[in-house]
Amino acid sequence: TVRLRYAPSPTGHLHIGGARTALFNYLFAKKHGGTYILRIEDTDQARNKENAEQGFMEGFRWLGLNWDEGPEIGGEYGPYSCMERLDIYQKYTDQLLESGQAYYCYCTAEELEAEREELSAKGELPRYLGKCRHLTAEERAKHESEGRKKTIRYRVPDDQVFAFDDLIRGLVEFESNGIGDFVIVKSDGIPTYNFAVTIDDALMKITHVARGEEHISNTPRQLMLYEAFGWTKPQFAHLPLILNETGKKLSKRDESIIQFIEQYAELGYLPEAINNFLVLLGWSPSIEQEIFSLDELVEHFSFDRISKSGAIFDKDKLAWMNGQYIKAADLDRIVDLAIPFLQAAGRIGEDFDREWVTLLVTLFKDAMLAVSEIVPLSVLFFSDDVAYDEDAKAVLAEESAKVVLQAFLDKVQAMDTFNVDTIKAALKEVQKETGLKGKQLFMPTRVALTGQLHGPDLNLSLALFGKEKVAARLGKLLQ
Ligand code: GLU
Repeated sequence: TVRLRYAPSPTGHLHIGGARTALFNYLFAKKHGGTYILRIEDTDQARNKENAEQGFMEGFRWLGLNWDEGPEIGGEYGPYSCMERLDIYQKYTDQLLESGQAYYCYCTAEELEAEREELSAKGELPRYLGKCRHLTAEERAKHESEGRKKTIRYRVPDDQVFAFDDLIRGLVEFESNGIGDFVIVKSDGIPTYNFAVTIDDALMKITHVARGEEHISNTPRQLMLYEAFGWTKPQFAHLPLILNETGKKLSKRDESIIQFIEQYAELGYLPEAINNFLVLLGWSPSIEQEIFSLDELVEHFSFDRISKSGAIFDKDKLAWMNGQYIKAADLDRIVDLAIPFLQAAGRIGEDFDREWVTLLVTLFKDAMLAVSEIVPLSVLFFSDDVAYDEDAKAVLAEESAKVVLQAFLDKVQAMDTFNVDTIKAALKEVQKETGLKGKQLFMPTRVALTGQLHGPDLNLSLALFGKEKVAARLGKLLQ
C-alpha cells in the first residue's frame, strides 16, 4: 500500500504552496487507501522558528488534512521530526565513512566561496571540486590540530547518469559530473536536508514523494544515497510552480496576494474552499466540474492530471469560490463564524441576540465572499442615522410616497409582533388601502429606512431594524 508524506521545515507560517503540496500527497494517499504522514524537517536549526510546528499542525487540522502518522499522534516509524532522529542518522553516517563513500571536508567558507567564484568566472557550474577527497593522514591531522571545523561530504560517483521517471514530468536525468560532492553532515553534526530526507523517506517506507519543483535538483543527490544504501527508491512527482497574475514565480514577499493559511482563516475563508482552490493550482479534473468536496477530490485525484507548467494564482477566483462555499454552507455555521467579526468590530457585545444575528447573516450570506465581509455589508443596521442623497430625496418627495409611509407607520405602531411575516402582511394591507403597489409601495419604504434605492431583501431588512427604529425613521420623515 502507498505511503506519502509532507515534510515541512518549521521556518515560518503554513504557506499556500506548502498546503497545496500537503493536499496532493494527502489525496493520493487516501485515494489508494494508503497512509499520509506528517514529518517535521527541522534540520535547519538557524531558521527554525518557535511555535512554527504548532502553527503548521493547526493549519492542517483546520484544512482537514489529518495525518495518520506524525507529531502528537506518533506511529510505527517515529519519531517524526529530524532533531529526534539524530542517532539514526549517525548510524548511516558511520556506515558511509567506513566504506569510504563519505569523507571529512575541512574547507572553510572562504575557500569554498573562492572556488565557486572561480568556476562561475569560467562559465562552469559552481560545485565542490573535491579538494578534501584524498587528504593524507598527515593533512587531516594538521587540519584537526588547527581546530578547523569539518563537514562530511558524500563522494559523488564519476561519469554516471542519475535518472528517474517523474510522475508529472516523465524522464528526468542528471549527470553526476555536474554535481559536486555534497555535504551530508554539517559542521555542527546535524545532517543536511538531502541526507535526512533520504534516510527518513526510506525508513518510513515512503512510496511516493510529491514536492515542489524547486527540489528537483536535490532528487539526484537523494537517488545516489538510495543506491549507496541499497534502498528501494520512491516515485517522485515534482509539482509545478505557483505563479502570480503576471506569470512570475510567486514570491512570499508579494503583498498583493494573501499567502498564509492562517490569514485566510482569519478573514473567514472556509477550509473546503481553500482546498478546492489549491487543488486546481496545477491539477485539472477529468470531468466538467469545478466545485469538489475533499471526498470527491480523493475520488478523482491523480498525478497524471497535474500539469508541468506553472499555475497562476487567481485570487478573484479564490474569493468567488469561497463565496460559493459560504452560500452552500449551513446558516448556523456561518453565524458562528460571523459572530467574532461582529464582536471585534464592536457591532455586538458578549451578550447578543442570536436570532437577530442569524437574520442579519441570512440577509448577506449569498453576497459574502469572506465571512469577515459581514461587517462592511451590514453597516446599515448599526448606524443611528440615515442620510438621504438627491435620488433618495426625490423618491421621498413624491406625493404617493407620503401616503404609503403614513399608512405603513400606522400599521407599524399597531403591531405587537414585528417580524418578517407580520411586516409582509402589513405591507399587503397598505397596498390594499392605498391602491399603490410594486415600486410605488416598496421604494419609498426602502429609501426611508436605508437611504438607498437598492439593497437586500426589504422585509428582512425591516425586521432587522426593528419596530422602534422603523417607527422613528418614518415618524421623522413625516413630521
Ligand atoms: N522540508 C522541505 C520543504 O519544506 C521538504 C522537501 C521534501 O518534501 O522533500 O520544502
